[in-house]
Amino acid sequence: MRYASVVLDIPTRSLDGAFEYAIPPELEHEVKTGATVLVSFSHRVAVGYVVATSPVPPAGLKSEKINPIEQVLAPPAFDETAAALAAWIAREYACTLPDAIRPFLAPGQKVKVTRSAPDAPWELQNERAGAVDARWAALALAANDYEPARSASRQRAVIEALREGPQRVSELSATIPGAASAVSALEKRGVVVVETRRQIRGGDQTTLSSAAAPRPEHLTAGQRAALAAIDAARTAARGDVVLVDGVTGSGKTEVYLAAIEHALAQGTGALVLVPEISLTAQTVGRFRSRFGDNVAVLHSRLSTGERYDQWDLVRSGRAHVVVGARSALFAPLANVGLIIIDEEHEGSYKQDKSPRYHAREVAAELARARGAALALGSATPSLESLQRCRAGSFRGATWTRVEMPERPGGSVLPRVTVVDMAEQFRGGGRGVFSGPLVQALRAMVERREKAVLLLNRRGFANFLMCRECGCVPECPHCSTALTYHERGHMLACHSCGRSWPVRAYPDPSTSCPNCGSRYLAAFGVGTQRVEDELSMLLPPDVEVIRMDADTTRAKGAHQRLLERFDAAECAVLVGTQMIAKGLDFPEVTLVGVINADTMLKLPDFRAAERTYDLLEQVAGRAGRGERPGEVIVQTYWATHPAMRAVASHDRSVFLDAELAERAESGYPPFSRLANVIVWGRSERDVRAVTDELAAAVRARVGRTPGWEVLGPADCVKARVKDQTRRHLMVKAPVDADVGALLGACVAGLSRRAGSNIAVDIDAYDMM
Ligand code: ADP
Ligand code: ZN
Ligand code: ZN
Repeated sequence: MRYASVVLDIPTRSLDGAFEYAIPPELEHEVKTGATVLVSFSHRVAVGYVVATSPVPPAGLKSEKINPIEQVLAPPAFDETAAALAAWIAREYACTLPDAIRPFLAPGQKVKVTRSAPDAPWELQNERAGAVDARWAALALAANDYEPARSASRQRAVIEALREGPQRVSELSATIPGAASAVSALEKRGVVVVETRRQIRGGDQTTLSSAAAPRPEHLTAGQRAALAAIDAARTAARGDVVLVDGVTGSGKTEVYLAAIEHALAQGTGALVLVPEISLTAQTVGRFRSRFGDNVAVLHSRLSTGERYDQWDLVRSGRAHVVVGARSALFAPLANVGLIIIDEEHEGSYKQDKSPRYHAREVAAELARARGAALALGSATPSLESLQRCRAGSFRGATWTRVEMPERPGGSVLPRVTVVDMAEQFRGGGRGVFSGPLVQALRAMVERREKAVLLLNRRGFANFLMCRECGCVPECPHCSTALTYHERGHMLACHSCGRSWPVRAYPDPSTSCPNCGSRYLAAFGVGTQRVEDELSMLLPPDVEVIRMDADTTRAKGAHQRLLERFDAAECAVLVGTQMIAKGLDFPEVTLVGVINADTMLKLPDFRAAERTYDLLEQVAGRAGRGERPGEVIVQTYWATHPAMRAVASHDRSVFLDAELAERAESGYPPFSRLANVIVWGRSERDVRAVTDELAAAVRARVGRTPGWEVLGPADCVKARVKDQTRRHLMVKAPVDADVGALLGACVAGLSRRAGSNIAVDIDAYDMM
């Protein structure tokens, strides 16, 4: 008899942990680590995940007292190392074990079980559409000697079409009426063979002319150094980290491709993480064009069925390179030799729901556990990574920084001009475009090139403000400032989705909720308005393409807009943050930033870092081809270190100022910062829970140096969807085990009636 440790997926935190079950002999071959099983638990059935198996009964239990596993619901999705990683995540991020295990399961798998009859086997529900089978037709050898009857024109057409290669019968039918019956007739004669093939969804390759970047003849010196460092880290096989610190366009992606080739040559696979937003066909295309069908792609814009098929390619060992968003870390690739995180500074690598992990930290732990290397790439590395490289090591792994300060082929960094908008409009007048930006746009049109205009939407742009009293209308149900939408003259809440016509807010008689004035005016601009003003400014043959949340909602829309921009002769791409990353169009010679400083006012200690990163990223879109690029940054805060650093191409201007400030106020990278948020309908309960929690944390922390407990206090968004939100912040030394401490405090709470608790370790969103 063998035994299995099973983590039950039930929503009771007090039952968090593995329970022991016996493996009945008839299930011996199926119950493996990573399998989903059905067990009975206090007279009910429960779904659980096998995290370990053993030939000896658990200590202290008589074998006949141990309940058997009733049924296997899904085959193994993860191995022992992944199970250990899940346990690490649960501890590090103070979440439950099932929360940490679920990301490893097959896409679409749910926790719910049903059965058709009282004695029928249980079945897991899953939300993926069943795999699609398609009938494919191909010519047989006999086709060479076959001459269809004179009257059989359909057969002729089918044979003609199939000379190009095998085709789906459904596709043939779309172009040749009655193709299906002609195919059957030909199949009977042995002229055509028909077979059923399982379709692998999510593998479409869109072809952008710029996607298939040719392999360069020589790597630059910087690229060779980076590649050697990654190879060395992979050979060391202990989770060493290489930070590839390369300016935009320095050829980081080319380094990744070469490093993956080396990993594959050694028989290991690679995980490649890119920010969700830049997972365009352009990025994916570069990996597909180098590694073909050996690549699986995983991200959230795929349907569940597509994600399942791509995941299954990895599990079944058919794909050894996984390109995806942060959750690609959990793909069932057993033999990982290399993990790559591109744009490692991106905030989107932090997940904002449980498990609230940071992909960089999980990747470092995974690399250590698998004996792999971790390569981080960025033009603007996070202060955390820079600090670890300065120290040389972190959590037992070596951290090395390799610089790539030059672009291959000598294409120079673009010239950056910072325009002080206050000065521009000192004499009155308010416009979207400053004089220098208008001139640069016109010159770009004369040269028949392309431009990218960034509209920074995070921050205070696009709000309606009362010009009499300065009040910004807020949602009555959430404490979120309402954003103004020009279309329909509406105010919308981004927390709960409610919206009002401006006149109806908050009641039909007045406009300003505070003073009653009707003089509410838009503060900041929207992409729509930029688009409108541009079409007035530029000749009509210049294509203006707008890319924001509104125009990219439909599936594939993002891609189609980029294809239009790619194909256009002379065009301007106007967009929000989503255009700043990863786009590589050599004809872009001008980049304009409409409003560089909106984000600086956010209550977030990373506001300056985020502004600097965004400006560098978007500036890097200019002049990637042979022609030189120009960048124009419009701001009301021209003296800010982030603006000065971008203008002078000197990161140290920003870093010195920022690190000094972080050190002084004790923020990361000089500390760890955790945020514990409590929310619920009853303000009294929420207060009681936060108070008890704060007392518990303070009692544990005592006067330990480096620890500090702030709060409890109202969150910046103090009400969302009619729920009260309060929080507690904990600062701790960089090597402290914050997750374990806070997890214990939360587990020990005496009551939490109706209150929800989120423990966010190394928090990114402080609001
Ligand atoms: P990054 O990822 O750092 O932004 P990319 O890898 O996209 O840079 O490279 C920028 C451009 O330079 C691409 O068009 C790429 O094909 C080209 N490139 C990269 N490495 C080389 C090289 N060694 N020689 C010539 N061109 C290169
Ligand atoms: Zn709301
Ligand atoms: Zn007012």
